[in-house]
Amino acid sequence: MPTLILHGGAGRIEEARTGAYERGLAAALAAGWGVLERGGEALDAVVAAVQSMEADPNAFNAGIGSSLTRDGTVECDACLVDGRDGSAGAVALVTRSASPIRLARAVLERTPHVLLAGVGADALEADPVDPDTLVTPHARAQLERWRERHGEAVGSAAEPTGSATVGAVALDAAGALAAATSTGGVIGQWPGRIGDAAVPGAGTYADGAVGVSCTGKGEAFLRAVTGKALAERLAAGATPGDALARALADVAAMGGSGGLIVALADGQLAWAFDTAHLALAWRTADAEHVSVTAEPGVTVRP
Ligand code: ASP
Repeated sequence: MPTLILHGGAGRIEEARTGAYERGLAAALAAGWGVLERGGEALDAVVAAVQSMEADPNAFNAGIGSSLTRDGTVECDACLVDGRDGSAGAVALVTRSASPIRLARAVLERTPHVLLAGVGADALEADPVDPDTLVTPHARAQLERWRERHGEAVGSAAEPTGSATVGAVALDAAGALAAATSTGGVIGQWPGRIGDAAVPGAGTYADGAVGVSCTGKGEAFLRAVTGKALAERLAAGATPGDALARALADVAAMGGSGGLIVALADGQLAWAFDTAHLALAWRTADAEHVSVTAEPGVTVRP
């Protein structure tokens, strides 16, 4: 039986934008589930779901509407992992793509590499866009607010803030897992900064038993190697609830907060977050859920 779980970021989601997030999540869930329902592969389902959220100009920090660097530019990261064989494709510092996850897939399928950054990644884009078309009024306003808070200190010790990264994890009818994450990074990040989303084993991971996509302060997830650490704990016999709680605790110990979504090969879904909200959607053969969730902690759905 296939399953699909999505996130649209952990953080604080303004009440006025909740509807836009839920509409965006519902559309992405339909896109991904459509693939699985037709007997399609988990890899195609997570790409379809993430592409839908990247294209949404009204919510999410990915593709169109990405968060801006301290210089006001867009630099996107994305990663795709195929749990069948651990193959992975990722891009970082992408500036001209409306769908960085599509580029991550191109790295996986068309290059001998795992992670391409900057000009090399941009060169894979068959349909490059003017970077300005990726910048929304909301992203500009968020950067302005961030600059007001941090003044001229931008880029020194000023702490970038994130939210609304998107991710998807799917289990297909053949029992394969795949995970995908796409993000504009964190508001006010230094140009050239790469977060956890782009790094297989950190913000995005899948193997034969589990798939995971993370959101939150990328530096902490990178240091905690969250995806791989979670998979190793599960392989060592931890329950999903314990493994997710440990994952969040490890991120907190590294000075970060955020959330993660998980699909297991046995059909269970799980999520955890320690921020104000998690934009969450999931679907199984007999149930479906879409919400901006405001109950932090760990949830496992058998
Ligand atoms: N994890 C992302 C990053 O650090 C940001 C986020 O999830 O909000 O780039």
